Amino acid sequence: MTRESQSSTGDNVDHAELHKFTHRAHEWWDPNGAFGTLHAINPLRLEWIDQHADLAGKKVLDVGCGAGILSEAMAVRGAQVTALDAGAEHLEVAREHAHDSGLEIHYLHTTAEAHAEHHAGDYDVVTCLEMLEHVPDPEAVIDALVQLVRPGGWLFLSTINRTPRAFAEAIVGAEYVLRLLPTGTHEYSRFIRPSELGTVLRRHRLEVIDMTGLTYSPLSGRYRLVPRTDVNYLMAARRPESDSETP
Ligand code: SAH
Repeated sequence: MTRESQSSTGDNVDHAELHKFTHRAHEWWDPNGAFGTLHAINPLRLEWIDQHADLAGKKVLDVGCGAGILSEAMAVRGAQVTALDAGAEHLEVAREHAHDSGLEIHYLHTTAEAHAEHHAGDYDVVTCLEMLEHVPDPEAVIDALVQLVRPGGWLFLSTINRTPRAFAEAIVGAEYVLRLLPTGTHEYSRFIRPSELGTVLRRHRLEVIDMTGLTYSPLSGRYRLVPRTDVNYLMAARRPESDSETP
């Protein structure tokens, strides 16, 4: 039996942060509930990932999968999806929902670090969206994500930039004014600049291939992918085919 099948969540988990997600486990699949924003942005990020990595037939790992909003969408595109999360309550919701949707997704209650101990290089594509800003040591997570990607494979990350505009839009605007997210969802000090993420990825010899911003327009009530990355953004990086290839 591997460590993760006994349900291992290790140390790099902030339990107060986790509680924000587990105590609303029943709301995950309600498009008008606390996680409605993730439903609203899902088609955009799915399309962006699929355009780069061509998901059909790929072995994909979705890290910090929640109740499977992205995991299911990638499975529908034909990916073989394994998904993990440190929150047991919403993983149960994820399993039930995938079952009801007739999708085969392998859900694990574990962390990227624990999973990497036994699955280094196993995945064509690793996704870790909207999670890094909720963990105590995001760099340790990235180290594990990089190990999990096979040579030549893709890593997709998303988080929130640490800028005054992100404070105004992602916290004040989204949590207090427009009430798109529950109050207290995000802490400014945990936001990560794209340059910081890029530096960590390049230290691991990954090549940053693309980056896009994601914004909400209160006028149209819609999200869009945009060039500016000063609030929410996605990053696509690739592991070189061999260690001798320098990106
Ligand atoms: N990636 C999903 C959900 C994002 S919400 C999406 O974008 O739709 C953040 C998720 O990360 C929550 O489900 C939370 O339980 C999970 N999480 C937080 N810390 C974690 C950790 N250290 N390891 C794994 N999952 C974690």
